[in-house]
Amino acid sequence: MGYSSSDFDLGVIGAGVVGLATAYKYQLKNPTHRVAVFEKEAAVSMHQTGRNSGVIHSGIYYKPGSFKAKNCMDGREQLVAFAKEHKVKHDVCGKVIVATKDEEIPLLESILARGIENGLTDLEMIEGQAILDIEPFVNGKKAIYVPQTGIIDFKGLCEKLAELITTINPDSRIVLSTEVIKEFDEGGKSGIITSRGTFYLNRRIFCAGLQADRMATTLGNKLDVAIVGFRGDYYELADHARHKVKNLIYPVPDPAFPFLGVHFTRMTDGSIECGPNAVFSFKREGYSKTAFSTKDTLDALRFPGTTKLFKKHMAKGLDEYKRAFSKKRFLTALNELMPSLTMDELVPGRSGVRAQALKKDGTLVDDFYIEELHNSIHVINAPSPAATAGLAIADEILLRLERSKSQ
Ligand SMILES: Cc1cc2nc3c(=O)[nH]c(=O)nc-3n(C[C@H](O)[C@H](O)[C@H](O)COP(=O)(O)OP(=O)(O)OC[C@H]3O[C@@H](n4cnc5c(N)ncnc54)[C@H](O)[C@@H]3O)c2cc1C
Repeated sequence: MGYSSSDFDLGVIGAGVVGLATAYKYQLKNPTHRVAVFEKEAAVSMHQTGRNSGVIHSGIYYKPGSFKAKNCMDGREQLVAFAKEHKVKHDVCGKVIVATKDEEIPLLESILARGIENGLTDLEMIEGQAILDIEPFVNGKKAIYVPQTGIIDFKGLCEKLAELITTINPDSRIVLSTEVIKEFDEGGKSGIITSRGTFYLNRRIFCAGLQADRMATTLGNKLDVAIVGFRGDYYELADHARHKVKNLIYPVPDPAFPFLGVHFTRMTDGSIECGPNAVFSFKREGYSKTAFSTKDTLDALRFPGTTKLFKKHMAKGLDEYKRAFSKKRFLTALNELMPSLTMDELVPGRSGVRAQALKKDGTLVDDFYIEELHNSIHVINAPSPAATAGLAIADEILLRLERSKSQ
């Protein structure tokens, strides 16, 4: 590859938004250092980042004081400023979170209170015509209008970050089609062994998304968590139905789950997506309904938390499976928010898989979670809203890097 064991000051593993934001922030602070981002795919943002809903989250949902709450607020502001400066396609268009039943209203009120506690201003509880003025086809008892929410082209963002890294330092590299197999620390040298040879690195940061737990254990470290994948399928609105959604329409989420429920999203290319559902994925990076990997499935089943998770959420899990294979069931969920929507207005779309850290007791790790192991930093849990929060998560990672250097 022409690097002939040359050193990089920093190696970042994973060219999703978290890895690229981290490499970019490091490069900004250390313009003369050589940075390499290693990515197994032939392009950046091929997994979670390039397959997500494209939403700039406001920070309304997250537990006050959590990393999610803090980094989403900070990351959103940084993201919008970055997108403006570097002309990444985006639109801070606002969204509505809609209660369709009376029993959802107390939950909606608690989301509003949480948003205010998290520092969001100008949130509004609305009803009746005020909802219809924003989204004319929605059926809602009450709704929260969230002006800070927006949409963005996360793939475009990643391409811009990659471009800036190598513009700041032309000796830095985005090393594509190169799978990292393991890290090593031997005889005063440290680095990584990859599908395309050995690279010596002064510092390593792993942002490997769906492979985060595997990458964290190549030196024999033990983790208390494992990554499981939850696939989310989308439908698109047919062209003749696009007028039914102006911006973003979300349901009141089920507090027992970390996902936000199937919603309507206007994408930056003008299409309208509906979804995603959430089904356990038998292949971490598998995007069809029947995708299966023996290794991924065995790894998941060997981890004690998986069967506990299945047992705990059996009914909901089965429902989600049925919905994954039934357009009619998907439509029924969407009809809660938009009764006029019909079968012929829904066209099958793409899918994404969410990486989610699971504990041995079967509970999901709710917050972002970063571990320092050996001489590396490993981002273990970076689920939604980590794309929104990426630039703030990068600051947090670099703070830890600084701290570990001075120890
Ligand atoms: C369906 C879905 C909808 C979502 N919607 C939103 C949303 O609207 N807004 C929001 O803020 N968040 C959303 N999220 C969450 C968000 O997309 C993720 O939190 C975020 O993209 C995580 O970024 P990442 O860089 O950690 O992971 P990834 O984007 O998955 O990147 C990890 C990268 O590491 C690479 N990699 C892994 N192992 C290796 C290896 N051994 N060698 C080399 N490279 C490796 C992978 O190929 C991959 O490119 C959504 C996620 C999904 C799946």
